Amino acid sequence: MKQLPHILIIGGGVIGTSIAYHLAKKNARVTLIEQGDIASGSSGACDGLVFMQSKKPGVHLSLAMKSLELFAALAAELPFDIEFRQRGGLVVIENDTEYRAMEKFVMAQQDIGLDVRLLDTGQTLEKDPLLSPDLSGATYSPLDAQVNPINLTLGFAQAARQNHVNLITRAKVLGIQTRNSRVTGVATTRGNFSADILVNAAGAMAGQIADMLDIPMPVRPRRGQIAVTRAGRPILGHSLISAKYIAAKFDPALAEDAGQGVSMEQTDNGNLLLGSTREFAGFDKSNTISGIRKIIRQTAEILPALKQVQIIRTFAGLRPYTPDGLPALGPTGSLPNFFMAAGHEGDGIALSPVTGHLMADLLLTGKTDIPIDAFSPDRFGSEQGGAHV
Ligand SMILES: Cc1cc2nc3c(=O)[nH]c(=O)nc-3n(C[C@H](O)[C@H](O)[C@H](O)COP(=O)(O)OP(=O)(O)OC[C@H]3O[C@@H](n4cnc5c(N)ncnc54)[C@H](O)[C@@H]3O)c2cc1C
Repeated sequence: MKQLPHILIIGGGVIGTSIAYHLAKKNARVTLIEQGDIASGSSGACDGLVFMQSKKPGVHLSLAMKSLELFAALAAELPFDIEFRQRGGLVVIENDTEYRAMEKFVMAQQDIGLDVRLLDTGQTLEKDPLLSPDLSGATYSPLDAQVNPINLTLGFAQAARQNHVNLITRAKVLGIQTRNSRVTGVATTRGNFSADILVNAAGAMAGQIADMLDIPMPVRPRRGQIAVTRAGRPILGHSLISAKYIAAKFDPALAEDAGQGVSMEQTDNGNLLLGSTREFAGFDKSNTISGIRKIIRQTAEILPALKQVQIIRTFAGLRPYTPDGLPALGPTGSLPNFFMAAGHEGDGIALSPVTGHLMADLLLTGKTDIPIDAFSPDRFGSEQGGAHV
């Protein structure tokens, strides 16, 4: 009998573990290598918004909708409570200029059938009474949801392990071996591993991994800082982002000039996660006083009840940014058995189920049930690699 190919995945974040889990469900032979612990990268230092409203109509939104479909089943399948809650979400609008921009954004989303509507100030306060009456309004979609990103990543990893995936932590990939234009294995701090297929799911460090093969891959770390409040009674009925967040996400120039947007969610435990900055600061994961101050000021303007709530800690993570805001998924032209699955920026948690599903099909059959040409890693041409930030 022909032996199954050995698939080696670099990265134990939500993307690498989701791919491992989806491959394991199809009985593939898989090893996952992580330099730290599972969820020690961005997937363990982020919010858990599964928002449809923040996605660009087109391939981005289609991918997110497919992912949303998969979440409900995962909540039942995974061995951890992933706290998937579909309570609907708000994009809060703070002034008339934003209101006009959001009118257009919502129309484009409605045109392709997304269940989203524009609310005036009164309707916004009916949805979430503790929000500021100074808001110009909001957009609302009942589809938006939230999840616990750490439980999701640990859930994928645990389920993958139960299905015979070899999970190796505290092993840093130092180099990649090739022969005749094919990857043959990797060298790590815990020895060498052979591979028939190599998947780069190294998140914000995916550019550095691609650099090992002289493949330019413009994935860059984009820092996000978050403040966590003391657990308390429910004061926020819906997860929310501000309309500025959408602008900041899609246009780095706006992020700097117009100030970053914020996001807020209240966890099952009662803590609020208040986020987040979008900064290019290399691989530095420090918090800054100015970043946290800005988040606290902006979130308290939107939800004044926060002025009575204590902040208990702060942290920061590195989003894997790409120039067009879309992930790189698929084989690389120069080395056909080297695959990319990275660059999900601020959407990796939301897009992890569909990424795992698509990559497992692609790696095992060469086909996917939804087209992924728009995510081809080769689309960046010779743009500068990720290590140069
Ligand atoms: C503040 C903030 C808020 C966010 N909010 C949301 C949100 O609400 N919703 C959402 O969908 N997304 C959100 N994101 C984005 C999300 O966190 C990321 O898109 C997602 O976690 C990326 O997952 P990943 O597996 O690609 O990367 P990571 O989780 O970073 O995993 C990559 C792994 O690769 C490992 N690795 C790297 N190099 C090597 C090597 N040489 N050898 C071995 N292992 C290596 C790393 O240690 C790391 O564990 C947010 C991000 C931040 C920072």
